[in-house]
Amino acid sequence: MWLEGSCHCQAVTFGVMARQPYPFNRCYCSVCRKTAGAGGYAINLGADADSLKVRGEEHVHVYQAVIDGAQSPGERHFCKHCASTL
Ligand SMILES: [Zn+2]
Repeated sequence: MWLEGSCHCQAVTFGVMARQPYPFNRCYCSVCRKTAGAGGYAINLGADADSLKVRGEEHVHVYQAVIDGAQSPGERHFCKHCASTL
C-alpha cells in the first residue's frame, strides 16, 4: 500500500510503498531518545526504500551523531523549519 506523511509544517511531504500501515520497528537507542525527546523514537516502516518519493527535500537537514569520537553512519533526517524528525 502507498503510505503518505509529512513534517508538522508540511514543508516536507513523502510517500512510500509498504506492506503494512504501521511501523515495523521503533528505535529507542540513546541517540533517538535524546534527539526526539524522552518519549520519542525513530520508526522503521519496513517500506520499500526504492519507492520513496520526497517533496521539499531542500527543507530537510541531516544529523549524524558522534559516538565515542567517531561519526555514526546513521542519518537522522529532520525538517529545518519545524524540527520534525522524518
Ligand atoms: Zn516542517
